[in-house]
Amino acid sequence: MVREAQPVRIRTRAETLGSPDGNGVADATMPTTGPLVDAFGRIHRDLRISVTDRCNLRCTYCMPEEGVVFLPRQEVLSYEEITRVAAAAHRLGVTTVRLSGGEPLLRQHLHRLVGYLSGVGFEDIAATTNGMFLAARAAELRDAGLNRVNVSCDSLDPEQFARIRRGGHLATVLAAMDAAEVAGLTPVKVNVVLVAGINDGEVEAFAAFGRETGRTVRFIEFMPLDASGTWDRSLVVAAGEVVERIGSRWPLEPVPDQEGGPAVRYRYRDGAGEVGVIASVTQPFCGSCDRLRLTADGNVRNCLFAHEEISVRDILRGDQVGDGAIETALRRAVWRKRAGHGIGEPDFTRPRRTMSMIGG
Ligand code: SAM
Ligand code: SF4
Repeated sequence: MVREAQPVRIRTRAETLGSPDGNGVADATMPTTGPLVDAFGRIHRDLRISVTDRCNLRCTYCMPEEGVVFLPRQEVLSYEEITRVAAAAHRLGVTTVRLSGGEPLLRQHLHRLVGYLSGVGFEDIAATTNGMFLAARAAELRDAGLNRVNVSCDSLDPEQFARIRRGGHLATVLAAMDAAEVAGLTPVKVNVVLVAGINDGEVEAFAAFGRETGRTVRFIEFMPLDASGTWDRSLVVAAGEVVERIGSRWPLEPVPDQEGGPAVRYRYRDGAGEVGVIASVTQPFCGSCDRLRLTADGNVRNCLFAHEEISVRDILRGDQVGDGAIETALRRAVWRKRAGHGIGEPDFTRPRRTMSMIGG
């Protein structure tokens, strides 16, 4: 079965440069100087860049098994185009970038992009990867300026791993974590998406893995961004339950003075490192969200769950429009951000783009 590419509301260049807003936030009151701020006062410092919508795996909670329609190559931003947008964001106060996808390491010569971004002057350049191609490229990425990686791994049982991710090899991914550490891409964090009835029995095993390896395991709540549309609240393993289960075996305490990030961090009282939970569904962190996203085809999204995007590709590929127009588009996208994602509210609707098309 071939899945139809879902339409997304994308603003044209003319709209991007001067339309009334679509979210009930008046563009007329948008600041034109200072940091990237939204109408609720949240200052944006973190840019998530999806470099491709393609992936070598088909994780059950993310992509359909077959028939995915990928973006035509000419619609995907070049490294030079991505860098121009990132540099504009940097001028507006963005300090950290994370490369994602799809699988970012499917993109050839990714170290070139890392090198360009490094030249822009970001404080931190990170990537999220499924780890299948990381081991061989960890050193070149580090040399180009990548600081650290998050590696996704949803089971410590090889067969279960392959069932959930519909491919891949646990041994390769574990070796990639080792290689990343040898290359200095540290700290390596391990992302685990928990789905009730599938891998929630592995919470303690992952905690033990983190304690033994010194890696921070981060348990992520399943979000309604799966291509199959099977997400249901009953499949979400609440972060609170995860913390309780781990803490009853190995006492935990919250890490003091945490900055407002997606992960809530806990440390083991016996000094065996940290564990994190990302409670996007049960305890949303929208109030302190400082992220904006750039999709592989050059659209700025202010939230994973946004229904509207602003195209910067039209600006990048148009003529006689300078970097000021990119900055305005970024400001506008951020200014229009909603207060929260609204999962669980009666009027919540899933975005048309799913996780691999947005960049997690
Ligand atoms: N392919 C890379 C990977 O798997 O790490 C990067 C892209 S992936 C979309 C980024 C992160 O989003 C991964 O940690 C993945 O497990 C997570 N993710 C994907 N679909 C999700 C969903 N429906 N709910 C929560 N997390 C999800
Ligand atoms: Fe690919 Fe990552 Fe999505 Fe899995 S979670 S299908 S590896 S993009």
